Amino acid sequence: MKVRTICPFCGSGCGMYAIAEEGKIRIERRREHPVAEGVLCPKGTFSRKIVYHEKRVKKPLIRRGSKFEETTRKEALKIVAERIKEAMKDDPTRVGFFASAKITNEENYLIQKLARAVVKTNNVDHCVRLCHAPSAAGLIMTVGSGAMTNPIGDVVNAKTVLVAGYNPFNTHPAVFRRMMKAKRNGTKFIFIDPMKSKSSRLADIHLQPYPGTDVVLLNAMAKLIIDQGRVDEEFVKSRTVGYEEYVKGLEKYTLDYAEKVTGVPKDLIYKATELYATNKPSVIYRGMGITQHVSGTQNVIALAMLALLTGNIGKPGTGLCPARGQSNVQGACDMGCMPNMFPGYKKVNEENAKYYAEKRGVDYVPSEPGLVTREMIDAASEGKIDVLYIVGENPVISEPNNLSVREKLEKAPFVVVQDILMTETAELADVVLPAATRLEKEGSMTNTERRVQYFFKALDPLYEAKSDFHIIVELAKLLGADRNYTTVGQVTDEIANVVPIYRGITYDVLTKNEFGVARPYDPETGKSETILYAERFKTPDGKARFILPKEILPEDLIPNDEYPFLLISFRLLEHRNSGAMTHIIPELHRLSPEPRLVMNPKDAEKLGLKDGQMVTVESRRGKVKLKLKVADEVREGVVAMPYHFAETNVVVPHGFFDEVVKMPNFKGVPVKVYA
Ligand code: SF4
Repeated sequence: MKVRTICPFCGSGCGMYAIAEEGKIRIERRREHPVAEGVLCPKGTFSRKIVYHEKRVKKPLIRRGSKFEETTRKEALKIVAERIKEAMKDDPTRVGFFASAKITNEENYLIQKLARAVVKTNNVDHCVRLCHAPSAAGLIMTVGSGAMTNPIGDVVNAKTVLVAGYNPFNTHPAVFRRMMKAKRNGTKFIFIDPMKSKSSRLADIHLQPYPGTDVVLLNAMAKLIIDQGRVDEEFVKSRTVGYEEYVKGLEKYTLDYAEKVTGVPKDLIYKATELYATNKPSVIYRGMGITQHVSGTQNVIALAMLALLTGNIGKPGTGLCPARGQSNVQGACDMGCMPNMFPGYKKVNEENAKYYAEKRGVDYVPSEPGLVTREMIDAASEGKIDVLYIVGENPVISEPNNLSVREKLEKAPFVVVQDILMTETAELADVVLPAATRLEKEGSMTNTERRVQYFFKALDPLYEAKSDFHIIVELAKLLGADRNYTTVGQVTDEIANVVPIYRGITYDVLTKNEFGVARPYDPETGKSETILYAERFKTPDGKARFILPKEILPEDLIPNDEYPFLLISFRLLEHRNSGAMTHIIPELHRLSPEPRLVMNPKDAEKLGLKDGQMVTVESRRGKVKLKLKVADEVREGVVAMPYHFAETNVVVPHGFFDEVVKMPNFKGVPVKVYA
């Protein structure tokens, strides 16, 4: 049977067909799909290999001493439910949930509903804490909503594209393809990134600031726009508030100051600013090079200010486009899998708690924000959380100072992992529940451009795996939930009713629209708002906010004589996140089987290091040995490691966070390198 499905890897959301026959799965391209356009990158092409992989969790497992024993799902879930009930009796906040950016909207919705309406805790979070939490926060603060303003295909309408901390060639090949098309049509590109990449070959101007200095660079660009009289005054006057205060705060951000702090020559900053502000329409794309800092939210705000100053928002070819990483990280956020947000980005507070309790037909849902992912791990190791329930995430690899995460999970009283693969985190669990792959289930996902798409099951789950929907519904029943869902579509319809930004996006609408619909969607006209903010921003008064972004750079994140280099991480085309799903695919793994430390040739020469030799990279918190790659892909003073290997987060320290969203500082870590 040939069914419509979606690639399980990146947030582009490429549609494809899956055909299951005689113990094999074939993937076929969908030429007519508006994102994929009949093209799949290597990850999408080989995604089918996960289904039959020997590393699948085949049966439910229970820990007995240092070993696992196979059991039935009924028995495993009974034990899990009993542990949760016991913890709830004392205090519901003694239970914590990790939802997942890899699973469907319906499944994420049910996980946070289980946490809030049944267990009565807001301890629910997911890997957005490691990637784009600052995007949501910074955009909500400035323009009122935390998602991409314009669709991916609209990039061809831009005359200038500013790409900040983002390598679309490796991260979202479907986006890069559109950018190449734009380039061929004459669009100009500005890159802001300490690294050179295949993507930055598009650059007409490439600024390579020291990691952690983006606020200074962007504030200087903003000041220059104002000083040069390039502000769209009509737009600022009619559509924004806070301009005067903002302008006052920019006084110190001269080009000289910016050059000194960022290391970018001032004439390049000048040219880039001129291009962005005058060669309009201009759009801004950005990635984790912007968000994964102590100043992540400030960086997001600083970029938004450029768009507001120049009126580059609310029209074709303009906008603010945070390219979301995992396949359904947008959906998991939209569904409220964050400890301080109910579904639809409603703040966790008394008023919204009442709304959701009423909508869910329960007496109450808690109105105090819960813990973020790392806080839950810490709390579990300190005996403050009794049950940690982790769905489809691998914090043992993906959290900073990951060796300490391993130790903490070993100390945690009771850890449940629900996953398709036996990950490093699953190895430490007390109970492991086998979950279905994307091809073995159905549901909806929301891609980075807010496109909500429904996909169908190509084959029944293998072994004793079940969909996350199925497992969560069973667990909720054991915990006394009164709603008995029998189909995924019932949850899709509940989301359309309960989550304001998904109003009208029912099962019927999604299954009839084979390429999905963007949210927000108007069920009366059948049209979506594909470009946001044409007339109003999503703030209470409809106006965008000028906010002065703060410079934040703790002393411990500044290089010195002992730790002279700044370490950043980057993504590879062939891997995704912790690499749990890509390292097991031979065709992908052999392209990058091991991490390498990238160092500029001038730095390597100064240290007497040679390409290919083993080196140690050491921060104040950890050290690893790996091979050296000498290449001018990084600027002098900066070294880089790929994100998808355990080694990187051994070196990245725990303890430095974005103050707004508690995002760890993954980039700009002072290190030394030696043979
Ligand atoms: Fe999958 Fe992203 Fe590649 Fe498309 S671009 S095939 S969604 S990994």
